[in-house]
Amino acid sequence: MVQDRRLLGMELKRCPHCGIENPNMVNTAGFKGNDRTWGTYACSQCDGIVLACTRQLFDQLAGFYHQQPQEYAADASFPPRAKAFFEQAVQSLNAPAGAVMLASSAVAAMLKEVGYSEGSLYSRIEQAADDKVISDDMALWASWVGLDKDEDDDEGDELPTTEDAHRMLDFVKMLGEWLFVFPEKVKRGIQTASDEEDDSALDNHGGKGRASLLSDGLD
Ligand SMILES: [Zn+2]
Repeated sequence: MVQDRRLLGMELKRCPHCGIENPNMVNTAGFKGNDRTWGTYACSQCDGIVLACTRQLFDQLAGFYHQQPQEYAADASFPPRAKAFFEQAVQSLNAPAGAVMLASSAVAAMLKEVGYSEGSLYSRIEQAADDKVISDDMALWASWVGLDKDEDDDEGDELPTTEDAHRMLDFVKMLGEWLFVFPEKVKRGIQTASDEEDDSALDNHGGKGRASLLSDGLD
């Protein structure tokens, strides 16, 4: 097991659960079979579990098994700046105050992309809700995750917790999907539906090509 842990320390650059660099992984359980040795390791920062496997024969690490934090994967449709802030926020979950700041920057970048760049962050969110670019519920959610706080007015406030950072990331992901992913999907859906309609129109004309359909229309 000592061998496993050394290999784990070499290979696992970040905890896949909380994102901390060079995580201190503590062996919690193991199983030695005929062919392979398995071990579970807990991150001392967040208690997230990673399963590792070594092959006896080669004494080499055969693989890690862990649940990817898929819920925070940024969509390719996110604007590049917002995507970068979002991804860095996810990687900073071990430092929640930093993650929250980066997440706010992601929100600012998204709002700027759709034309809101003036005033405080929350006034921009309220404006977007007034203009029906986002729903009133989303503005309410933004306030609940703390985006209505004045950036300079943090006196006496406690530092954000990991829970706060998760809540903020949930909001950023939803906002990004609403503003950039959802419209793309709708556009693609409409396009596919109209293509299918065209195809069935062609079928109804006994397999005539598009050009002959057009000339039929002109006659
Ligand atoms: Zn961790």
